[in-house]
Amino acid sequence: MAVSCCPRCGKTGFELKEYKVEGAAHLYTLIQCVWCGAVVGTHEYAHLGKLIYKLARKLGVDLDS
Ligand SMILES: [Zn+2]
Repeated sequence: MAVSCCPRCGKTGFELKEYKVEGAAHLYTLIQCVWCGAVVGTHEYAHLGKLIYKLARKLGVDLDS
């Protein structure tokens, strides 16, 4: 299996970081290299998938079946 590496420094190891984008209404979570800080991905801070599962559970809907 391939090992994921940073496109800038070539090292391996990533971390999540909460980040406020100027002009954005909410926070984002960045996936960044632990060595050089290069950002390799982003996702919503209030992860939409997690919110959908939470809503489905409240409505009694099993999304995994
Ligand atoms: Zn790096």
